[in-house]
Amino acid sequence: LLGPDGRPGGTVFERMSRLAARTGAINLGQGFPDVDGPPQMLEAAVAALRNGGNQYSPVAGTPQLREAVAEHQARFYGIDVDPEHGVLVTVGASEGIAAAMLAFLRPGDEVVVLEPHYDLYGAVAAFVGARLVTVPLEPPRFAPEPDRLAAAFGPRTRMVLLNDPHNPTGTVLDDAALGQVAALAAAHDCVVVTDEVYEHLRYPGPHRPLAAVPGAFERTLTVSSVGKTFSATGWRVGWVSGPRRLVEAVRATKAYLTHSAATPLQLAAAAALGSPDAFYAELTEDFRRRRDVLVAGLAAAGAHPAQPQGTFFVVADVAALCARHGAADATALAPALAEETGVVGVPVSALASAARAGDYGDWMRFSFGKRPEVLEEAVRRLAG
Ligand code: PMP
Ligand code: GLN
Repeated sequence: LLGPDGRPGGTVFERMSRLAARTGAINLGQGFPDVDGPPQMLEAAVAALRNGGNQYSPVAGTPQLREAVAEHQARFYGIDVDPEHGVLVTVGASEGIAAAMLAFLRPGDEVVVLEPHYDLYGAVAAFVGARLVTVPLEPPRFAPEPDRLAAAFGPRTRMVLLNDPHNPTGTVLDDAALGQVAALAAAHDCVVVTDEVYEHLRYPGPHRPLAAVPGAFERTLTVSSVGKTFSATGWRVGWVSGPRRLVEAVRATKAYLTHSAATPLQLAAAAALGSPDAFYAELTEDFRRRRDVLVAGLAAAGAHPAQPQGTFFVVADVAALCARHGAADATALAPALAEETGVVGVPVSALASAARAGDYGDWMRFSFGKRPEVLEEAVRRLAG
C-alpha cells in the first residue's frame, strides 16, 4: 500500500502518531490541539444537531457560514468578498486546496510552492499529473530568497500554492516577499491558492493575506479552516474565498468530491468565527507563550530551534540529540527519541522532495499546540 509519493505506511503524521501511541511518548508530531474549542461553538453544534440541521447543506455551504467567512475577511483584513458567490465551504482546508488544484491544473502544469511543505500538496499534484516546482526555505533562516522565487516561475507555471504562516518552518512572509509573489503571479498569469490555516497563530500579529496585496485579489483563492483557530481539527470544516470566477470553478469540482460539508458543524463554525476580538487576541497570546516554553526547552536540551513567527510548530536542528542517541539523522532519531526520551517529533525531511531531503536531515519539527503542562513535561523529558 503505497501513497502517491511512493512511501509506505501512510502519511508521516499517521506514522508519527502511531509511534507515539505504541511507545506512550508525548505526541508533538502530528499538529492538533489537545483541548476543545470555545464553549459557545460546542453549544451551537449541539443546538444545530437537535434542531434539524442534519441534512445536506447547499454545495457552497450554509448561508450562515458563508456570511461569517465574509465578515471575518472584512473584519481582520479589509477584504471584501461576496458571501453568495465568493465563499465556498469545504471539508477542511484539505478539500479546498485539493479541489482548487483539481479545478485549475492539467497534466504537465507547474505549481510553485515553498519547500519543505505540507504533504497533501505533492499528493494532489500527483493525482493530476502536475509538477511541483519548489522554492527552498534553507536552514537556519528558512526565508525565501528572491532570486530563487523568481527562478521557479516559467512558461508552464499555472499556480502558486502559498502556505503562510508556513508549516513546518514557522516562517511568515514579509511585505516584500508577498509583493514579489503577487507580481510574479501577475507576470505569469497564474492562479494563487493560499493556505492560511494558521492565520491567527502569528507572533506578533496581525497576519497579512496575499489577497490583501493591491491587485492580487482577482487571481487569488484564500483557504482556511476551523481546525487550528477553534481547536476543531476533527470537524473537517474549511472554506475558500475569492473572486466569483475562481470560486465557482472550485465549487464545480468540489460538488463531485463530497457535495457538502457537515451541516451542523458549519452552523457552529459560523458562531465561532463571530467570536469577539478578545478571543482571537488571547488565542495568539496563549500560543506565543507556549512557543516560548518549547523553544527554550529545545535550546536547553542542546537542540538549535529556529524561532517561529507563526503556526504551532518549531523546527530545530537536533544534531546534538542524534549524537546522544547514536542516530544518523532526524529520521533515525524519531523512534529513539520516542522510546528513550518519550517525545515524538516529525523529521522535516519527510516534508521535503527527495532531491532536497538531505538539506533537512538534522531538522525535526515539534508542535507546541498542546496544553502548557504537556509542554512542560516534554521539556523535562528532553532535558534528560
Ligand atoms: N494546510 C496546512 C499547512 C496544514 O498544516 C494542515 C493541517 N492542519 C492543513 C492544510 C489541513 O487543514 P484541515 O485540517 O482544515 O483540512
Ligand atoms: N496539519 C497537521 C500537521 O502538519 C497534520 C494533519 C494530518 O495529519 N494530515 O501536523
